[in-house]
Amino acid sequence: MREYCKVELLSITPNALQLIERAGRISHKSEDKITIDSAPKFVEMLIRLGHESVLEHASATFEISNISRVCSHQLVRHRIASYTQESQRHCKADKFIIPPTFCNVPVDFPKVITSFGDIPQEDLRYFYINATATSIIVTMNFRSLRHFLKERLSKAAQWEIKGVACCVYDILLWGGFELILRDISPLRRTANGTLDSKYFLMSCNTGSDMYSIQSIGD
Ligand SMILES: Cc1cc2nc3c(=O)[nH]c(=O)nc-3n(C[C@H](O)[C@H](O)[C@H](O)COP(=O)(O)OP(=O)(O)OC[C@H]3O[C@@H](n4cnc5c(N)ncnc54)[C@H](O)[C@@H]3O)c2cc1C
Repeated sequence: MREYCKVELLSITPNALQLIERAGRISHKSEDKITIDSAPKFVEMLIRLGHESVLEHASATFEISNISRVCSHQLVRHRIASYTQESQRHCKADKFIIPPTFCNVPVDFPKVITSFGDIPQEDLRYFYINATATSIIVTMNFRSLRHFLKERLSKAAQWEIKGVACCVYDILLWGGFELILRDISPLRRTANGTLDSKYFLMSCNTGSDMYSIQSIGD
């Protein structure tokens, strides 16, 4: 069984729904309507009416590790976010993400990179392949997160970033943010938690804040 991405929630806006409600109510000066349990309904209404700019007041930060450069490149195309990524100038490529479709194909990635001898790391990286594993920290506001999840949980998205999106989705779901995910279709799952992609088995690593995916069948 191969290990694929790990996604860990590092931080999330405290009382996020309450903050969004507080911000949203300023426009109609209806702060007096805030009660102990009014936030979820209010946020649901904002989403239904398409007033999603108010969702930008809350954000979450995730550490995503053990993904390929293919996947991280797809991730950073989402411009409304902040990123910090492992530097290939300073860190050697020592791990590779091999797609599950390669399970019966012998591939020896590391040999290709070490065969150049004494080349500085910053130049060696020109020969790194897209399969090189990387880690990246991403901060996205809730509006951007919803957009990312809609795009990357879609059938058209590639398996690896779909796995990342699925981990993010589950972390938010189990963190009590079901209502911001309601109109975003999760991947279908079988009874034992297997994703609809034939590749993955998702597992919760440590508590509810970290998810990882593994391949099945090899
Ligand atoms: C299945 C799939 C296949 C893809 N294939 C390709 C491909 O073949 N080639 C390729 O290059 N990319 C491809 N992409 C990437 C895609 O084109 C987007 O770059 C990526 O999905 C990020 O989406 P976004 O720009 O909407 O998100 P973000 O950059 O996060 O932007 C969010 C939203 O903000 C607004 N916005 C952001 N920047 C601007 C701006 N400058 N002007 C106006 N509005 C803005 C838009 O409404 C945008 O939807 C693919 C994506 C998917 C999901």
